[in-house]
Amino acid sequence: MDAPATGTPKPITFADPPLADTEPPRDCPLCPRLAAFRHAVRDEHPDWWNAPVPALGGRGAWLGIVGLAPGKHGAHRTGRPFTGDHAGALLFATLGKFGLATGTYEARADDGLRLTGAVIINAVKCLPPENKPTPEETRTCRRFLQRQVAELPAMRVLVPLGRIAHDSVLRALGEIPSRYRFGHGAEHRLPDGRVLIDSYHCSRYNQNTGRLTTPMFEAVFARATELRAHQMS
Ligand code: SF4
Repeated sequence: MDAPATGTPKPITFADPPLADTEPPRDCPLCPRLAAFRHAVRDEHPDWWNAPVPALGGRGAWLGIVGLAPGKHGAHRTGRPFTGDHAGALLFATLGKFGLATGTYEARADDGLRLTGAVIINAVKCLPPENKPTPEETRTCRRFLQRQVAELPAMRVLVPLGRIAHDSVLRALGEIPSRYRFGHGAEHRLPDGRVLIDSYHCSRYNQNTGRLTTPMFEAVFARATELRAHQMS
């Protein structure tokens, strides 16, 4: 698990999530193991977010980034995807570099950072023990992912972070994952014209082991913005 960035999180003050009508309730009971874990962490850290983590970004987003699930000291603590952990530092730096975020990322949900043209959605919205949701939990939470991709018609390029996100978002889009082989940088054009560009997850583990380097991660977003330019021309 990632360690907290710094200090005690400030109260969450960000506005209603952009896809509020498609989010699960704070006390979603559909995955008993995850609900029990959520309650246990809430008892331990009552000042944390401790709930399913809503999507971040706007409904007009052209780029969809699909994460796996909240990290304990990141999104589960702060209430904003990827905020407060090691994975978020690389992700938000990269989004800033490619003009997909404005403001300064300060690892807090109230740091004023805004996504521009991008949305971040987790395939599984609750914190899983050891960062590992079961296949059943991923399947159960897909109903929310499915509702959200349906609400984002402008989202023409998707970047799933890791194999589970790749499979789940393909299923959410009505596709059969085995037809699209996961690989870092692999590009898949779907029948409806959307394009998926796979990336290894920007987790601390992948970064520390060198499985994912900053240039490798940036190359995915460079390609996404290149595709966007072609779509606009
Ligand atoms: S992971 Fe999704 S479906 Fe499962 S309890 Fe959380 S919000 Fe509900």
